[in-house]
Amino acid sequence: MKQQIKKVAITGGTHGNELTGVYLINKFFKNPNLVKRDSFETFFMHTNLGAIKQCTRYVDKDLNRTFTYEGLNNPTLNSYEDKLAKEINQKIGPKGSDNPNVDFIMDLHSTTSKMGLSICISTEDKLSWQVAAFVKECIPELNIFSWKGDTQNTSFVSSIPQSGFTIEVGSIPQGVLRADMFFETEKIIQTILDFFEKYNTGNLNKQYTQVEVYHNVKMIDFPRGNDGDINAMVHPNLQENGYFKLTKGDPIFVTLDGEELYYEDENDLYALFINEAAYYEKGVAMCLADKKTIEI
Ligand SMILES: [Zn+2]
Repeated sequence: MKQQIKKVAITGGTHGNELTGVYLINKFFKNPNLVKRDSFETFFMHTNLGAIKQCTRYVDKDLNRTFTYEGLNNPTLNSYEDKLAKEINQKIGPKGSDNPNVDFIMDLHSTTSKMGLSICISTEDKLSWQVAAFVKECIPELNIFSWKGDTQNTSFVSSIPQSGFTIEVGSIPQGVLRADMFFETEKIIQTILDFFEKYNTGNLNKQYTQVEVYHNVKMIDFPRGNDGDINAMVHPNLQENGYFKLTKGDPIFVTLDGEELYYEDENDLYALFINEAAYYEKGVAMCLADKKTIEI
């Protein structure tokens, strides 16, 4: 692992209609001392100002699927987010560098799905897993979801430096601030900053060797008719749940006519990101994960 952490980034507004991150960054701009620590620099920014201004997920395309090496190195891509990604990559990365401008990134998101407090991690990087395990120890109700994302190569904002992850908190409707989740997200941020202060000053009490994680197995789409349109909804049993255990025979969708459709996999899996509004366009009704304890 790295010897010393010099710079930690907090990014919000990657999706312009996820207001928790937008307003936490606003709060830090007004009072930077809140995220200041003695042993490292904290850098924070709004990543997608165009989307924030119009309170939409994005302007032209999803910024949080734009950080592939191919895209960053392709000068002919000129959508708003493609150009923005190159600018952010210069500030925070460059991606793949052994010596990026920040040592660690936390990218703030909210979800319309009942994910509670979650860390979504898409890297094997040991430091990132140490941080996640520390946060889980401090905030036991938090869950860790291991997911490479829905694109062929990891393309999240959090993939720019070697170390980092995404914070997902919900359920929160798009374009809405929820005070409880705002403060809970801030608590996760403060816990991560505390980790690095302890790390840099040799005051971490232990090395974390194991952590419980939900590991992504597959994403499933809504049932669709021949015209491609959705013809069934997420079953009400799942709607108000995060990390919902599915066993063969459990109802999972219900058609517009009220007919229940059942989970048919022999393996028990946990459903999460259930009925996330932003995933309708991606053809994802939910992610299915298995739960296991992994060695760090
Ligand atoms: Zn988001």
